[in-house]
Formats: sequence, C-alpha cells, structure tokens
Amino acid sequence: MQYDLHTHSTASDGTCSPSELVTLADANGVGCVALTDHDTIAGIEDARQTARLLAIQLVAGVEISVSWGSQTLHILGLNVDIDCEKLNAGLSKLRIFRDWRALEIARKLERAGIPETYAAVKKLSNGTLISRTHFAQHLINVEKAKNMQAVFKHFLVKGKPGYVEGDWASLEEAIEWINAAGGLAVIAHPARYRLSATRLRELMSTFKELGGTGLEVISGSHSDKENRSMAEYARRYDLAASMGSDFHGAHHPWRQIGKMSDLPENLFPVWKCKQWPVFAGSVSV
Ligand code: AMP
Ligand code: MN
Ligand code: MN
Ligand code: MN
Repeated sequence: MQYDLHTHSTASDGTCSPSELVTLADANGVGCVALTDHDTIAGIEDARQTARLLAIQLVAGVEISVSWGSQTLHILGLNVDIDCEKLNAGLSKLRIFRDWRALEIARKLERAGIPETYAAVKKLSNGTLISRTHFAQHLINVEKAKNMQAVFKHFLVKGKPGYVEGDWASLEEAIEWINAAGGLAVIAHPARYRLSATRLRELMSTFKELGGTGLEVISGSHSDKENRSMAEYARRYDLAASMGSDFHGAHHPWRQIGKMSDLPENLFPVWKCKQWPVFAGSVSV
C-alpha cells in the first residue's frame, strides 16, 4: 500500500481541486491519501465523495499553523473528525488572523510601491483562504519576481517589505484541537525549520509531553539525508512515523503525489496507531 499523508488543494494554496487531487493520487498508485490543507477542512467532503467512487482511502486531515516562540511550525492533524466543534472553532480563529494578515501584507506592499494586491490575491484564492503563496503568485504575475523562491526571499520573509509576523495557534492548542477531534498530531516537514539540534530536541520532547503522536519522517520537501536524520529522531523520541509529498500542484518538479522514498522498516508507522481510521471493506495495515 502506498501512502501520501500530506497534500494541498484549492481549499488552501494548492492548484488542484480536492476531487482532482484524489483522482491524481489514484492514478499515481496511491492507496491512501490525506488531504491536509492549511488551517481548513473545507475540501474534505468533496475529496471524500471522489475517494468513495474510486475506492481509494481518504484520510481527513489539516495542516495547522503554529507559533512556537518566534518560529512558525506546521502540525498535521490526521484522521480528524471534521464536525468537532473545538477543532472548527480553533481553525476559524486562524482563518480570521489570515484575513487580517492578508490586508496587512497588502498594505505593506502598497507602501513598497506595489498597489492593489489584496483584490488580486482574493481573486487568485477563489474566495477560499489566502496564503502567502497567493501573494507570491500575484507578484510573479506582475513581474516583480521570476519564481516562487525569489518572491519569498525578496518580499515575504522576515525583514522584507511584505512580511507580517505570524500569530498562529500555540503548539499546545494545535495538539489539543487535533486530539479533541480524535486525530493524530504529526510534526510536518521537521527538517524544513532549520532548527538547531538543541531546539529540535526541545521541540520533540515538548510535542510528546503535550500529547503529540508522530513525526513526518519522509517529506517531499526533505533531502534524502534529512529523511534519514528525521528517522533517527522518530526512533529516539518514540514518535510514530509519517510520510507525505506536501503536494501543491502538478507544476512542482519533484513534489508529486505518492512520489517519495519508502518509510524505513524499523519505524512504527502512523497507520498502525490506534487513532488511525478503519476503512470500510479493508484492513488498515
Ligand atoms: P502561509 O501559511 O500563508 O504563511 O504560507 C506558507 C506557504 O507558503 C507554505 O505552505 C508554502 O506552500 C509556501 N512557501 C513558504 N516558503 C516558500 C518558499 N521559500 N518557496 C515557495 N513556497 C513557499
Ligand atoms: Mn502551502
Ligand atoms: Mn507546511
Ligand atoms: Mn503542507
């Protein structure tokens, strides 16, 4: 069974609709896919319908934005109950911050001589939530930058004209909301934060103490070396191991659905955890 437990649709900053995404997962030989949009579960119902038609396993997920000190982290919730009030109240608070932040980013870009970005990103986001990816896309469209890497580096990160500090959920809140929704909390792409070994150890142990369950060992945004290093951390901190492409669309050269290295065998996979969904007509292992 091929798993891909981290993907984005048009419900956040991906370019495929939830239904297209599930169809693509199926075509790529994935047997179990998690839809994990940023701070929203709005795409799950549509993804579920297509998954039923194609007889592919769909895990209801979300990627929650977290502020941990001055660091932004992403915590995945896998197999969450999308009707859980606590989770929905938490996510809607984050989306309110996102709306405010989008206006603030637009205001700052305007001061830097780039007008009318808010209307443009609102349109690009199709009325769903606005991510920095939408700002990046717009800045590329109006030829302020050549590509995604350049646009983030010159406009959207700390010290640059369109930067606004995150004020997301605390690590404790994110884990609480996920656990309340019966899900499994997983630290997304742990090697992407460029934390020192000391901070990384502190993150893993705090995360465990707060009730977190897993670590995304294999990520489309990790190098092979980082995958191996994160496998070591999962073993050392007794965290269940997850794997996901972090798919945002077919345009990306290597982050494609289901195209990842295998999970190392001596790890405990998230799909063997007690919180894992039981799918009709199949054994989950
Ligand atoms: P947000 O959650 O709105 O702050 O946006 C974060 C999203 O921007 C991430 O999920 C990525 O999809 C994207 N992103 C962040 N940094 C970069 C980068 N350097 N290059 C391309 N995309 C990025
Ligand atoms: Mn994203
Ligand atoms: Mn992420
Ligand atoms: Mn992601």
